[in-house]
Amino acid sequence: MQQQVDSMAAEYGRTPSLVVIQVGNDPASTIYVRNKMRAAEFCHIRSQHLSLPDSITEQELCAHISRLNDNNDIDGILVQLPLPAHINEDTIIRSINAEKDVDGFHPDNAACLWLHQPLQTNHKASIYDPVPDYGCTIACTPKGILSMLASTGVELDGKRAVVIGRSPIVGKPMAKLLLDRQCTVTIAHSHTADLPAVCREADILIAAVGKPKLITKDCVKPGAIVIDVGISRLPDGTLSGDVDFEACKDIASFISPVPGGVGPMTVTMLMQNTIDCYKRRLNGKH
Ligand code: NAD
Repeated sequence: MQQQVDSMAAEYGRTPSLVVIQVGNDPASTIYVRNKMRAAEFCHIRSQHLSLPDSITEQELCAHISRLNDNNDIDGILVQLPLPAHINEDTIIRSINAEKDVDGFHPDNAACLWLHQPLQTNHKASIYDPVPDYGCTIACTPKGILSMLASTGVELDGKRAVVIGRSPIVGKPMAKLLLDRQCTVTIAHSHTADLPAVCREADILIAAVGKPKLITKDCVKPGAIVIDVGISRLPDGTLSGDVDFEACKDIASFISPVPGGVGPMTVTMLMQNTIDCYKRRLNGKH
């Protein structure tokens, strides 16, 4: 990625740039933001951490975003979630220019994914491997998981996939990406009856819930690929995924750990999304 960034900067006379906005001092957010800034530095992406006080109003935050939207030198804007309760997250996400929405949370990007249509009508899709070029920003976590699945070398076409969790930032986009890869997809959630039986049908099982060790060995079909998205902090301070890793690792053909699996891939995809937003913004001008 560094070489890609360096050569684009040399060719176009400008380095891809990312602004990460953090409101308040939530300790988990501080760690996530730090990881994103380090990754940007590693990839030679120009980055700025805009730290704003908890007391900021929704209107003031929107004004900061509007200024960044109008700044031609900025390619990516990310607002670290969660936001303080007095700020409406949907309003803030909508206030980001969809072409700079590197998280892929803006409704325009979500719609483009579901309709498989680019943000810009003049978009020329490049052949991307392993994640197809939708011409919009795909949320980093599901995009990273698709990349992880590709790295297993397992053919996805025709496989049964079960995604546990239906959030707009992980479960739903993940299901759509797998559908587009010709999987037969089930989305399970908090009201799903007999979750273990549903999970046992999966060749590809993706857990995005946030409940430590919800997925036991009784939920895993022998040979399945198991991807653990969940991150929960246990009372002893350690991190746990949704999957009982030790119990499932000998049943699954591939299994991702927590920490160290989906998390780092998500940050990597944020860097890729920043580069892609930069490229799309260049295309829009030429
Ligand atoms: P969310 O709270 O928005 O969604 C959780 C989903 O789990 C819901 O759709 C709910 O229906 C489902 N659910 C709850 N209890 C259930 C149960 N008992 N059985 C089946 N389904 C159940 O969460 P989210 O934002 O999608 O995140 C999910 C998890 O993934 C969290 O732990 C989060 O921290 C983690 N996460 C990790 C990354 C990463 O980069 N590694 C990124 C995003 C989210």
